[in-house]
Amino acid sequence: MYLGDYIVIEEQTGPFAFACESVSTGTKFTASVDEDKREIFQDKSFPDSHPHACRFLRPDGPLLRCTIHRDSPAQCKFYRCVIMRIADHEGNELGTVTGTLHLHSDDRRLGSVWEEAETAIPESSPKAEERRREYLTGHGYRVS
Ligand code: SF4
Repeated sequence: MYLGDYIVIEEQTGPFAFACESVSTGTKFTASVDEDKREIFQDKSFPDSHPHACRFLRPDGPLLRCTIHRDSPAQCKFYRCVIMRIADHEGNELGTVTGTLHLHSDDRRLGSVWEEAETAIPESSPKAEERRREYLTGHGYRVS
């Protein structure tokens, strides 16, 4: 919500493509809006009414989403500390997943299920985060 001064669009290079700079590190990067987020990206009312928010942030139902999840700069991926909390069917928390799609858990069964998910759904594949959530849910875990 407050990274608009740090993630700067320098130029629009295509309908959904941008040349950008991560100001805090001086890193240039190119970003394409994720295909599945192009519809919500086209509504500019949110960034227009939240001038300190990153121009790539958009509401999506009750959530706020990064619309360049695939191309977002490294510090954004690390900044998104925990993107999933994983619990067993009774609600006991077993682990968390960070923005880089890494599992943090001491639970061996969850660890092996996550390894299967990594093989079946590589990090670079479309909607990897959502599909891994579904994979875990399909194996009886609660994911929030
Ligand atoms: S995660 Fe995405 S929306 Fe958030 S600051 Fe980074 S590029 Fe912008």
